[in-house]
Amino acid sequence: MKRVAIVGGGVAGLAAAYELARLARNGASLQVVLFEASTRLGGIIETVHEGGFVIECGPDAWVTEKPWARELAEELGLGNEVMPSNDATRKTYVLVDKKLQAMPDGMRMMVPVDLDAMDASDMFSAAAKLAYHEEMGRAEELREAAPDQDESVAEFVRRHFGDEVLAKIGAPLLSGVFGGDVTKLSVRAVMAPFVAMERERGSLIGALQASVAAKRHSVFTTLRSGMGTLVDRMIAAIPEDWVRLLAEVRFISYGEEGWLVGTARGVERFDAVMMAAPVDVACSLLSPVDPEVAPLMEMDASSAVVAAFGFPDAAKFPVPPGFGFLVPPGSDSLLLAGTFVDQKFEDRVPQGGRLVRAFFGGKAAERLMRCGNDETAAVARMELARILGPLPEPQVTVVRRWPRSLPQYAVGHLERMKKLDERVSALDGLWLLGNGYHGVGVPDLVRDARVAARRMARKSEGLAEVAEL
Ligand SMILES: Cc1cc2nc3c(=O)[nH]c(=O)nc-3n(C[C@H](O)[C@H](O)[C@H](O)COP(=O)(O)OP(=O)(O)OC[C@H]3O[C@@H](n4cnc5c(N)ncnc54)[C@H](O)[C@@H]3O)c2cc1C
Repeated sequence: MKRVAIVGGGVAGLAAAYELARLARNGASLQVVLFEASTRLGGIIETVHEGGFVIECGPDAWVTEKPWARELAEELGLGNEVMPSNDATRKTYVLVDKKLQAMPDGMRMMVPVDLDAMDASDMFSAAAKLAYHEEMGRAEELREAAPDQDESVAEFVRRHFGDEVLAKIGAPLLSGVFGGDVTKLSVRAVMAPFVAMERERGSLIGALQASVAAKRHSVFTTLRSGMGTLVDRMIAAIPEDWVRLLAEVRFISYGEEGWLVGTARGVERFDAVMMAAPVDVACSLLSPVDPEVAPLMEMDASSAVVAAFGFPDAAKFPVPPGFGFLVPPGSDSLLLAGTFVDQKFEDRVPQGGRLVRAFFGGKAAERLMRCGNDETAAVARMELARILGPLPEPQVTVVRRWPRSLPQYAVGHLERMKKLDERVSALDGLWLLGNGYHGVGVPDLVRDARVAARRMARKSEGLAEVAEL
């Protein structure tokens, strides 16, 4: 019987535990302990149900193109719950000169699939529109100039479309997802599909227009009752006695006796450790095990603060049609983004209600980290009101702080991760999971955790067949 410790019960640790439970049910000889420091499982995934509102405190959806979260949901019997975003009304605004300006239809991040829609939009100057049109004609030049090395998102976007597109769409979009600085974020780590398109076709617009998939499906997918249901269903499929809450792992060591994992309650021996705590925590727990891993795991991380407001009567708080808005860095607003939740997804509000979510990142989030819920909610309401007009009294308010929750994949990230993976694979029985390494999105985390769990079980059983169980 192999003993496996999973450290951290966010979606990565849970997906690993779920996969191991599945393998154990199919005969793999495994005994698992999932150590979770807090009182609840799910980590950044949390859905609050209150007064008929379905309020996401962390992720509200996954990118449809990546199938791994949907596959897991279907496996967990949630096929009927899987629902797309309301893409018929998809529109995203950007705060430009204190006003919300609609992004043109048919954009895939900062790349327009439909150049006519882009031309018809008021968002860009004539020079930026020309830069978009010229990008297709520059395909060969762009393909040949594609660098062998990693570069920043800013350099990449600038090369294709120029400064204005970077400032108006590139920077706010990437900050909205990663809470980060486009001049530091690694394009290969955070925009890999675009890098591949550049390598193959040169022009990103040309590549997207050629891809039928880009035009077909909705961009985001979620669960009708919220992302928390994915967590609840995984928990239900994991043996209860595998899970320990309020069990913060305080040290880890590795030696001839295998892995030792220590909490306030004592020390236990394991054959393998699946480290799914946030990268900062993982780094400090593992640096005594191998001092060379620590420098490879050190990275900046951005904090996030979310404040959601549910209103009983949408008519009393009209918002523009669409999914919400982004705020470019340097704007006169503390917000990073706002989501019109009831317009983005069905069934998020009681009949006739309105749900708006404010999202803070970067320095504003750091400052709000020190404020109480009431103060944070007041700041969020004030910042929303400056953009959308006066807010009525909300029926429901939910505030969440996620300190250092969005690791920043800086230029060179992929090479660093390659070295880290080599180093870690030399330590028999250690697996790194979670959002610090190979993707921050829920689908990537689910896929990587399940693959690692299968590999781990196969290795510990010495049976190739375990992978197929
Ligand atoms: C506000 C916000 C919105 C987001 N929106 C989206 C989205 O729409 N779509 C999307 O795909 N992704 C989104 N993301 C990213 C995604 O949600 C995260 O990358 C993902 O949930 C992280 O999961 P994880 O398991 O790696 O880490 P976490 O969820 O951080 O889980 C780590 C767990 O480890 C525990 N822990 C910490 N220290 C210890 C210890 N010493 N011992 C034991 N346990 C420990 C923690 O308590 C926590 O439960 C969003 C992120 C944020 C912050």
